[in-house]
Amino acid sequence: MFPKSSYIVRILPLAKIDSTLDYQVKFSTSKYSICVGSLVKIPLRNKVELGIVQSFPSNSAVSPRKLKSILSTPYANPVLSPSLIRLADWIKNYYACSWQSILERMIPPALRKITKSKQQTVISLSPEGKNQSLEQLPKNAIQQKRILEYLKKESQPIAQTTITKALKISSNTIRILIQKGWIRQKKQLVIRKAYEDSLGNAERIVGKIFLNQEQQNAIHSIKKSLETETFRTHLLHGVTGSGKTEVYLGVIESVLQKAGGVLFLVPEVALTPQTVDRLRARLKRLQEDVVVWHSHLSAGERHDAWLSVSNGDCRVVVGARSAVFAPIPRLRLIIVDEEHEPAFKQEDSPRYHGRDVAVYRAFLENAVCVLGSATPSLESLRNAQRNKYQYEKLTKRVDHRNLPRIQVLDLRRESRKKGFGGLLSIPLEDKLRDRLQKKEQSILFMNRRGYNAHYLCQNCGHIEMSPDASIPLTYHRTDHTLRCHLTGFIKPATKQCPKCNTGQMSGKGTGTQRIEEAVKKAIPKAKVIRMDADTMVKKNKFREILQDFRLGRIDILVGTQMIAKGLDFPNVTLVGMIDADRSLHIPDFRAAERTFQLIVQVSGRSGRGERAGEVIIQSFTPHAEPIQYARRGDFDGFFEYELERRQEFLYPPFRHVTRHIFRSRNQEKVCFYLDQWIKTLEKEKIKALEIRGPAPAPIAVLRGEYRYQIWYFTAKIPKIIARIQRLMEAFPLDREVIQTLDVDAQSMQ
Ligand code: ADP
Repeated sequence: MFPKSSYIVRILPLAKIDSTLDYQVKFSTSKYSICVGSLVKIPLRNKVELGIVQSFPSNSAVSPRKLKSILSTPYANPVLSPSLIRLADWIKNYYACSWQSILERMIPPALRKITKSKQQTVISLSPEGKNQSLEQLPKNAIQQKRILEYLKKESQPIAQTTITKALKISSNTIRILIQKGWIRQKKQLVIRKAYEDSLGNAERIVGKIFLNQEQQNAIHSIKKSLETETFRTHLLHGVTGSGKTEVYLGVIESVLQKAGGVLFLVPEVALTPQTVDRLRARLKRLQEDVVVWHSHLSAGERHDAWLSVSNGDCRVVVGARSAVFAPIPRLRLIIVDEEHEPAFKQEDSPRYHGRDVAVYRAFLENAVCVLGSATPSLESLRNAQRNKYQYEKLTKRVDHRNLPRIQVLDLRRESRKKGFGGLLSIPLEDKLRDRLQKKEQSILFMNRRGYNAHYLCQNCGHIEMSPDASIPLTYHRTDHTLRCHLTGFIKPATKQCPKCNTGQMSGKGTGTQRIEEAVKKAIPKAKVIRMDADTMVKKNKFREILQDFRLGRIDILVGTQMIAKGLDFPNVTLVGMIDADRSLHIPDFRAAERTFQLIVQVSGRSGRGERAGEVIIQSFTPHAEPIQYARRGDFDGFFEYELERRQEFLYPPFRHVTRHIFRSRNQEKVCFYLDQWIKTLEKEKIKALEIRGPAPAPIAVLRGEYRYQIWYFTAKIPKIIARIQRLMEAFPLDREVIQTLDVDAQSMQ
């Protein structure tokens, strides 16, 4: 019999343990009442660990005498809602990862450390203060009058220090007003907010907008789903510049009017500042604040964001993939902008896909999910085709603006022409000059940073390789170094070959630094700025450059895919893609899709204002299908073409693909265990599973570890993955070998 003075709780541990654990709670010891989602301290393996209450079973497999008691409950309120717990459960099963890895994403570190949050003194007008006529104050009470005037304009309590600093007054004056009963003072949590500054494009943001018919239709359709209060996913496919953000805003407003919560996911907050600013500016007009949530928040900021969202102070969260776990009460709407972006996939454990988790969360919350993109992923399009998602299309740019004219330049021919400098074709160079003359702006896109792709000996052909990753080192001319873009390794570049000691070393292939140099040389008058991971080391540098670009202080922006996303600059009328082949001819079944998306997205930065836009795509394989479909803007054609190719090999979206990586410093061991593992798998004869490999990973050595991969193709996920996982658990693996599963893998590297 279980003692009546206590009850059982089932705990999800925040520790390296993969099962739930049962504990007992003695009524007398628990400070706060315990419910599903409460954070509790538990004794585990002679240590104190944290756990989350999952349920209250009436019985436990552990005998009552052996059942340990929980130690304490640090917080009065649960830290996870029942639906977030169910979401964690789904992620664990689907992505084959541990509770710990998921719960650590869901609960901010500050809450796990159980620290106190910072408080500040805030003041606001009391009801008497609000009614007080300023004329009735004594003539010499100037400071008191200024404070009252200041507070009358504020709808929210204001930090006392903000007022004393702004008005240059002493806190004594505030004390007098408190004594008179006109001002109230209280302690409040300090809420630190990221991205308070804006790009200053308010006139583009807040000007009155009349939605066109397509936008209205999309909003109407999404609102209809919202009214039913049941789960539904809409795929909003709108060409670049078709006003998708206005559609989002339309539905967000209607959700807020009905006191619902909104989650807005973007691929990377730092790289989509315009979207974040636009949301902030628009929602501010509705007196609605927006919490910005991303991985660069400090522990304190994250904690505060978490608090203000969970207690309902802030109902809109904008953030990158980890924001999908924001504890928004009454969540009604989830928007995933640029849903096709691979950045939504987490590349370390838990390897979840932010977009797919968003859809599942919407399902659990009976909410509506909107996936938006100008180039939706094949997975989402297929779901729309099968009526799992409702398809909304915006076919035209706003204000009858035309999509830019895209011209593909055949580099085989261009490179033979006299005057070709090796990078910029003559037509592209001419057009850059023409824009400079017309005071219009241009963007040049190259998907590789550095100066050269590799550094090679003209004599013996030796290529300088990264010592701990099997890829060539990239030459950086700015500081004459060779760098590994995977591991961060740096060494000085030598003129002479370190291998044959006679040949001269020289760089081959193109990176953004080389393009910047070529443009500056060809058009010395132009103000050129490069934007890539090398120049963006300082926080906020990205925003500074975008601000300068908006203000017309920069003529030509050279950059990596960092500049391909969501930027809306009306004065950009020319976009040049230096090397469209770079992403195309690589061993990745998504290469065609990614190239098509990249061309369409980069092109979409051109001609967004009143003047028509133009795009130049340089390629040695100009007839490649993705390039041609993108040139014609034929999305449906590309979709059909690519779907057929995928079907042939039953690649996603027809089946799910999972990557199983084995890695070790010891090559012999990793090969041995790989062999054993394949034998184990084959013995199992799992139906509906196709195994491809094993083979060395494209990056065969990384940080000194040999990497091999096996691919699993199946339509029956997560059932098959669960089976593989069980086998993995039982498989005797040497400690020197590490294995990981990447379900719905996005990266082939
Ligand atoms: P997308 O996200 O589809 O590329 P945006 O939402 O960025 O497009 O819209 C492009 C620009 O057009 C923005 O500056 C936006 O304010 C403006 N815009 C959107 N809808 C309309 C409209 N109906 N009328 C006029 N301008 C609009």
